Amino acid sequence: MVRITSDILQSVVKPARYTGNEWNSVHKKWEDVSCHFALSMPDVYEVGMSNLGLKILYEILNNREDTWAERVYAPWIDMEEEMRSRNIPLYSLESFTELNKFDFIGFSLQFEMCFTTVLNMLDLSGINVWAKDRGDDEPFIIGGGPCVYNVEPVADFFDLFLIGEAEEALPELVEVFCEWKKEGRPNGRGEFLKRAARVRGIYVPSLYVPQYDEKGMYTGLQTIGEDTPPVIYKRIIQDMDSVATMERPIVPYIDIVHNRIMLELFRGCSRGCRFCQAGVAYRPVRERTESRLRELARKMIDVTGYDEISLTSLSSADYSCLGGLVDNLMNDFSCEKVGFTLPSLRIDSFSIDLADKMQQIRKSGLTFAPEAGTQRMRDVINKGVTEEDLLKATGAAFKKGWKTVKLYFMIGLPTETDEDVIGIAELAQKVVNHYKETTGRKDVKVTISVSCFVPKAFTAFQWFGQNTLEEFSRKQMLIKEHIKDRSIHYNYHDAHVSLLEGVLARGDRRLSGVIYSAWKNGSRFDGWTDQFDESRWTRAFEENNIDPAQYNIRERAFDEVFPWEHTTPGVSRAFLKHEYEKAVAESLTKDCRRGDCTGCGICQKLGVNIVDWGKERA
Ligand code: SF4
Repeated sequence: MVRITSDILQSVVKPARYTGNEWNSVHKKWEDVSCHFALSMPDVYEVGMSNLGLKILYEILNNREDTWAERVYAPWIDMEEEMRSRNIPLYSLESFTELNKFDFIGFSLQFEMCFTTVLNMLDLSGINVWAKDRGDDEPFIIGGGPCVYNVEPVADFFDLFLIGEAEEALPELVEVFCEWKKEGRPNGRGEFLKRAARVRGIYVPSLYVPQYDEKGMYTGLQTIGEDTPPVIYKRIIQDMDSVATMERPIVPYIDIVHNRIMLELFRGCSRGCRFCQAGVAYRPVRERTESRLRELARKMIDVTGYDEISLTSLSSADYSCLGGLVDNLMNDFSCEKVGFTLPSLRIDSFSIDLADKMQQIRKSGLTFAPEAGTQRMRDVINKGVTEEDLLKATGAAFKKGWKTVKLYFMIGLPTETDEDVIGIAELAQKVVNHYKETTGRKDVKVTISVSCFVPKAFTAFQWFGQNTLEEFSRKQMLIKEHIKDRSIHYNYHDAHVSLLEGVLARGDRRLSGVIYSAWKNGSRFDGWTDQFDESRWTRAFEENNIDPAQYNIRERAFDEVFPWEHTTPGVSRAFLKHEYEKAVAESLTKDCRRGDCTGCGICQKLGVNIVDWGKERA
């Protein structure tokens, strides 16, 4: 057991990150369980504690008598220094046990810029960072989360991955582990991994050997073992009402990113934005019933004392019974002063009316994501939002008293012209003008936040060559030059980070050496602007003789074999290609939720259906 003395805690910022023992954290006797599982987020406590997936798995695993799930997050730089200087290994927040004593360490991989932090956490735990070097007495390192739709760049650091939704698959994996352990761990960790590979949704990278041709182009995988599946399809929950979920969230002692109850209305989004990986990865839409949501809200309020519930989903305003749900929830908790928030707003006046009803904090303003500045560009990405929609929605908001609006855009999208880029500044100006016309006042603040587009695996734009640094920089300046009004505030993302994300998002297993070198060069917390150091990565690419442009800038041929296609959400390649062609033709694809199936193939491949309670009632 690790002991953290008060002098250490007094020398670091936010010491409560490292002390555990929060309300609703689960404590068991170490020797009473067969399986010790550390659930981790390769980021700081405040970020990790806000992750809904980890909260759900914490409860599901701890509801098993044979398993104790504990938590661990990445120590911030100051704590890492203390730990390294005093030889303190990374430890769990419940039992303060060294991580290398666990059976599993599960990392939730939310985005590619966390990869070096995973290596750093393994190293801090005294665990071999390369999976091939791990001995029988070391934990199994398992990855999950959105990055599993291309895990090849980090495949050599992990023993296994869980593809898709883990509520059912993770307990199945634990069963296999407990059985193998009961048998006396026959044939060491290799035997367990072989058995694990038979669990649907589990990918064991050491059983797959990537193949390349003489030009270095990836040609596919060779599987090892007779019953190793060539393709691993995501696991998916059909019935969101009956699946076990979070009912007793941990209440932290310090403020965290989402310091409120997260009530998950539904999974999936079928709007079909062509740039969006989550839109494909979580298909189809599956809603919880209103009665189940009210039951969950009641349970979680009663055991936490929270006074705020966030109605969480990829696109919460699309919940088919949202108006009725909000009315009923407000009624259910009218005596307890519980507030409700919608994390994302649709661009329509229905959302504004709801936000107004829920009395979201006006000071923080409203956020919309038109994503592109011109109608042509929005049609290319299938955003399905018009300028009229945006002006109507913002107009409705201005009439209700809002005067701060944040608009999210991307640059570097396929077929983009300078006119589309300048259109971002022009659209912001139209919103400002609309405020002045609607209210007769000038005290509006419109913030435009512009990110650099990163093409992702399993999207219609997976073939697209990312813009270069020069193109991104020129476009960023072009927008700046066209902003003429002081009411418009302009933020843009560091293109270096987006370009690196572009390499990792469509990379192959050869990038593991680069990630390792970058970590050795000092990289970690790469998603934090103040920690990211481009030069460490430049050196890492040079040290490994790898040209990043081959991964991010290069336009792929339609017949190219991709290194991510064996861990799949089930979408058909033909559908994605057709969507890319429709994008170039500026042609829209309808939302399949209420209309006809548009042929992505996921429902048929996985044997699941859309669950839309509004449609059922109609
Ligand atoms: S298979 Fe059809 S209905 Fe199902 S998510 Fe894909 S497009 Fe929608």
